Amino acid sequence: MIKTLKFGGTSVGSAENMRRVAQIIVSEGGRLTVLSAMSGTTDTLVSISSAASRGDSETVRAGIDLLREKYTTCINLLLNSRLDEALQALERSFTVLSNETFTYRGEVSDRLMLAQGELLTSAIFCLYMQEAGHRAVLIHSPEVMRTDYDHKPDTIHLKQSLQSRMNDPEAYYIAQGFICTDAAGQINNLGRGGSDYSASLMGVAIGAAEVQIWTDIDGMHNNDPRIVDKTRPIRHMSFDEAAELAYFGAKILHPATIQPCKEAGISVRLKNSISPSDEGTLISDTKEDESDFHAIAAKDGITVVRISSARMLMAYGFMRKVFEVFEKYKTPVDMITTSEVDVSLTIDNTRFLQEITRELAPFGTIEVSSNNTIICIVGRLGDDHTGMAARIFGALKQVPIRMISYGANHRSIALLVTTEYKVQALQSLNDHLFEF
Ligand code: ADP
Ligand code: ASP
Ligand code: MG
Repeated sequence: MIKTLKFGGTSVGSAENMRRVAQIIVSEGGRLTVLSAMSGTTDTLVSISSAASRGDSETVRAGIDLLREKYTTCINLLLNSRLDEALQALERSFTVLSNETFTYRGEVSDRLMLAQGELLTSAIFCLYMQEAGHRAVLIHSPEVMRTDYDHKPDTIHLKQSLQSRMNDPEAYYIAQGFICTDAAGQINNLGRGGSDYSASLMGVAIGAAEVQIWTDIDGMHNNDPRIVDKTRPIRHMSFDEAAELAYFGAKILHPATIQPCKEAGISVRLKNSISPSDEGTLISDTKEDESDFHAIAAKDGITVVRISSARMLMAYGFMRKVFEVFEKYKTPVDMITTSEVDVSLTIDNTRFLQEITRELAPFGTIEVSSNNTIICIVGRLGDDHTGMAARIFGALKQVPIRMISYGANHRSIALLVTTEYKVQALQSLNDHLFEF
């Protein structure tokens, strides 16, 4: 069975963890492995590039020193015979960082700097695999992962270029997650947390039977384990349920991960690299769980745009005009509710908010409010099953609810609350809807 394995930042976060990852790859027979940067790297690179943009050389220096120390320690603990090659890879990446912070060129520099985490981590790891006696081959992901002007991956190029490179049946291939080449020919990335998405696209490209996402927890939990007490792993999920939870904030998966695998019928397995014998979560074409409530996720940073207009009363074509404005600015809408004379929409990308509100202004009165959270509850929420909404609202007696989206599908309901109520809402839903 051909497998693509992806290891996140914690999984490759130290020399010890990298050794464990090598064992997992060998025992799973992972044909292609996609790696993130060592944990904390991308956050530090973001802070270095933003300091460089402000000319704050002290923060730049502190960030670079921190990373140099982290990677040097890892290399020294991990490598012997290939130590010099790893130190050369380190120098290459740090030369890029010094040059780009010194002659800062805006976004091009930001992206080049951000790419160094994955490039350096994968180079070190591949050398370690080779030193340990395995046939390991490094793939330079920007050569295989290209995106177009809409930032969509070129899956045909990915398939052809991976297949032409992966011609040694005995080798373990190691690629960087997250990074790509964009339509302008520059190094870019698939967005924060994007290594999961790299892995699913690459898994589909090589015709894998399974994509395994190895992380620091024993699978997808029924609620956010970072802020909710008493969550538990879910053993099986359908593609649609997992996609919905990832889209609505379950950080364990990048929101775009599931779709390519769903279309290709490739199952996705979430596993814990710190404890590989844990069962984890299998996401596949399975029939949905029979229990009433399956899982909850929350997405922060939501902005509501409300348009109140008497012109909407009994009118047709009004919605089209409203949606055209969002389309023009390539801004996706998540939730929508309507009354006779108002429509409320939520967005999470506020890059063009000013332009959008300016163009909506002729339609009526526009109100904008930020700092909201969408809470998505997945379960048996079809109209063949009564009492579910009552249980949800019963659990949320103390929480003011701003919007509700229900009935779009049979498996979920989405609620909007102001972010200050998020933790209370998630905990209360957990306590009332799940049995432990
Ligand atoms: P990686 O670096 O391996 O990509 P991430 O930090 O991106 O790991 O994702 C794993 C983390 O996601 C977990 O440590 C956990 O805290 C968090 N998380 C948030 N929601 C969930 C959920 N519903 N189930 C499991 N983990 C979740
Ligand atoms: N290293 C990148 C990030 O921290 C990509 C990833 O981890 O998936 O966002
Ligand atoms: Mg992640």
